[in-house]
Amino acid sequence: MQDSVANCAWQCCKGLDDKIIEWRRDFHRYPELRWTEFRTAALIARHLNQLGYKVIMGKQAQDPASRRAMLGSEETQAAKARALALGADHSLVDAMTDGLTGVIGILSFGTIDGSKPVVALRFDMDAIAQHEPREDRHRPYKMGFASQNEGIMHACGHDGHVAIGLGVAEALAVMVKQNVETGNAEMCGTVKLIFQPAEEGAHGGGQSIVNVGHVDDVDYFIACHIGMGATSTGQISTGTKDFLATTKMDAVFKGISSHAGGKPELGKNALLAASSAVLNLHALSRHSEGATRVNVGVIQGGSARNIICDNVKLELETRGADSRLNDFLQGRAELVLAGAASMHDVVMELSIVGECPGATSDPELSKKIAEACRKLWPNNDIREIMSFGAGDDATFYMQRVHENGGKATYMLFGADLADSHHGRYFDFDERVLPIAARTLVTVTADLLRGA
Ligand SMILES: [Zn+2]
Ligand SMILES: [Zn+2]
Repeated sequence: MQDSVANCAWQCCKGLDDKIIEWRRDFHRYPELRWTEFRTAALIARHLNQLGYKVIMGKQAQDPASRRAMLGSEETQAAKARALALGADHSLVDAMTDGLTGVIGILSFGTIDGSKPVVALRFDMDAIAQHEPREDRHRPYKMGFASQNEGIMHACGHDGHVAIGLGVAEALAVMVKQNVETGNAEMCGTVKLIFQPAEEGAHGGGQSIVNVGHVDDVDYFIACHIGMGATSTGQISTGTKDFLATTKMDAVFKGISSHAGGKPELGKNALLAASSAVLNLHALSRHSEGATRVNVGVIQGGSARNIICDNVKLELETRGADSRLNDFLQGRAELVLAGAASMHDVVMELSIVGECPGATSDPELSKKIAEACRKLWPNNDIREIMSFGAGDDATFYMQRVHENGGKATYMLFGADLADSHHGRYFDFDERVLPIAARTLVTVTADLLRGA
């Protein structure tokens, strides 16, 4: 390993590798759903405050209007109470007004605030609605750090992302001190660590931060994921392609109920309309210029076998290899939904509950980071581009940074997995955590030194 500034900083942070793994297990034990990441965010904010970061939260960090699919107020209050019972600071939880749980830490490596370049790193922190198995074959359970929050699980690795972010925060804070003590200001610029809620389901977590303008001044933006695309520990991709642009929709069909035997002619059958829509959505013709997907994942409705059904909800999504292909499929899907409603003379209400554009990593930045990675990890499999094949709302940041002339990339940190992402037995080789944190610290230091 090269004797870099970043590496020296790492050595100063005693036991940081172990600490990152402990953090991951702690966050895994107490997972939180979108817009209710109160405990997670409070721990992050406390850590950043202690390290000397300028901490931005609440409405200063996020635009409330960009949020979607908020949980009900009862569920949100319960999550808040649970976080406080688990020791989250009251004042920090209060700062997350109305469930705005994003936290941004800013660290300056210059004499003036906002000195250039500005490097932003994004870490997502939400979990998903999944039941974690209580079986010995599942390592988190066997080792005593399985979810304590019933029905919620970190099954996408975002617990690891937060732990990596805290490790990066600690090492960079040491580097600022060294910069000041040596007086040679080897590094110059500003670092923004963005801890983002609600990545899953594209419910506006990324948009809410981008829309406040937090990446408008960013020269270099890096997001990352554990175990996606790169699936063996030690493998790293410094760029990503094939983000699927996506739109998430809810369609509600409203008809009129009536007696199924006595007066079926008086009814307007919402269930038939929804069923026609489901079959025809999946039969949509595809685009010749790239991958597209459509899926209806949920159908809910009806009350009894002898009643003409008057209310059905579909939850569906479209995806495309780029925004244009997704727009094509979304447009066709909307026609099918409206057509099915018209066929059965029912009303259809459509709401868009999530969306993500596509994006590509900047090739020059990917190359530069790959060179740093090859020096740092000479025996590892380092690639400059790999395929993602899913969506991530990091693409909102990437798009904005590229529009403003900055460079953005999405890194993949390989990890051996026990199950696929979102699977019940999902777990990853924790050795990826210090690898990712060291890499991000080294890369950030290089960017701040203009290397
Ligand atoms: Zn996920
Ligand atoms: Zn994820």
